[in-house]
Amino acid sequence: MANLELTDDVPSVADDGVWLTCIECGESFAPFEEVRYTCDDCDGLLEARYADLPTFDEFEGEGVWRYSAALPFEEGVTLPEGNTPLHRVPRIEEEVGVGSLRVKHEGMNPTGSFKDRGMTVGVRVAKEIGVGRLACASTGNTSAALAAYGARGGMETLVLLPAGKVAAGKIAQAALHKARILKVDGNFDECLDIVQDLAGRGEAYLLNSLNPFRLEGQKTIGLEIMEEHYADYGEFPDRIVLPVGNAGNTAALYKCFRELVKAGEITEDQVPKITGAQAEGAAPMVEAIEEGNDETRRWEEVETRATAIRIGNPVNAPKALPGIRETGGTAVAVSDEEITAAQRDLAGEGVGVEPASAASVAGLRKLRDRGVIEDDESVVCLTTGHLLKDPDAAAAAGNDPEPVDNSTEAVLDLLGEN
Ligand SMILES: *Cc1c(COP(=O)(O)O)cnc(C)c1O
Ligand SMILES: [Zn+2]
Repeated sequence: MANLELTDDVPSVADDGVWLTCIECGESFAPFEEVRYTCDDCDGLLEARYADLPTFDEFEGEGVWRYSAALPFEEGVTLPEGNTPLHRVPRIEEEVGVGSLRVKHEGMNPTGSFKDRGMTVGVRVAKEIGVGRLACASTGNTSAALAAYGARGGMETLVLLPAGKVAAGKIAQAALHKARILKVDGNFDECLDIVQDLAGRGEAYLLNSLNPFRLEGQKTIGLEIMEEHYADYGEFPDRIVLPVGNAGNTAALYKCFRELVKAGEITEDQVPKITGAQAEGAAPMVEAIEEGNDETRRWEEVETRATAIRIGNPVNAPKALPGIRETGGTAVAVSDEEITAAQRDLAGEGVGVEPASAASVAGLRKLRDRGVIEDDESVVCLTTGHLLKDPDAAAAAGNDPEPVDNSTEAVLDLLGEN
């Protein structure tokens, strides 16, 4: 079992109060001396650790770098990112029947997904280490973010995508931001196997969420939610519901809350319940939570319209499963039809999201129906990507354009006004 406890001992390998720790065997490593994604000794996942954890009053400015006191650097390669809206959605709130519901719309980041938060830190670390080529496997959004931040940082980028399974907007972004794009005849998990292999041979610096520094940037989603919710309601949210693919965000949120508890800024009781939503056709995390397993089983066949979470082997499961369990959260699987219905309802509040994002609201609905989420809870749903990322899914879910003759009379006839 992973050990995610934050301790007070600062190892000698620490660089300016920052180091990496293996969550499985506890070994510590210097953070930027060599390229390393997993533990040399046992291949376990690594986590960034700090000698000093900040308090809320140390944060200043806006966006991801507002939280530099909780990050390995003061500034990064920025576009800038973060500072996303925490929308009110009164109709969905009323229909679902909870104490309060807010939607943290991560689609409002520069490239349209939360991946930007991880990349601003990850590309900064790549520069520190001094690597040449940046690479990732992606269901789409990671490649868009990597391409944009790599371009911003003046670095070469390589992305591996599962052929035919990436939404149009995301490929367009990677292409125009000058990534070299390889489309692989395989699924995301197989693309990640290859990129990990390339990274292991020193051919590229890996910027998937296996990279512990990306999760440091994504941690700022939690910090923004906590600050803004407290400012609006005088308390922290009871629960955060989020879509889960590789479980990077789930792991990042848990890291955020562990650090706030360790810094004495919140009590264990004030930690929001981390609640994951997956598509029925790609739900290894839900399976592990339901069966009480410490690991996920790799699903070889995965399918869902929500391509961003079409993932069968969530690499961050060892960090994310304890996060869900220890915070009193849970995980739920939703159908593609439920995802599309939630996508439409969010759009009906003016909030345009891609299918994977809507899994959070679909999951909330299902857990309310089952009585797992109570009617007085304050809930934040995370929507991870923008509607325009997947224009085909949006068009299919929305109204059809109606042909009409080229005259006012014809338009009025059609509207039934004549
Ligand atoms: C990457 C992504 C996810 C999955 O996030 P994980 O951190 O891998 O669980 C969900 N939704 C969207 C839109 C994404 O781009
Ligand atoms: Zn180890």
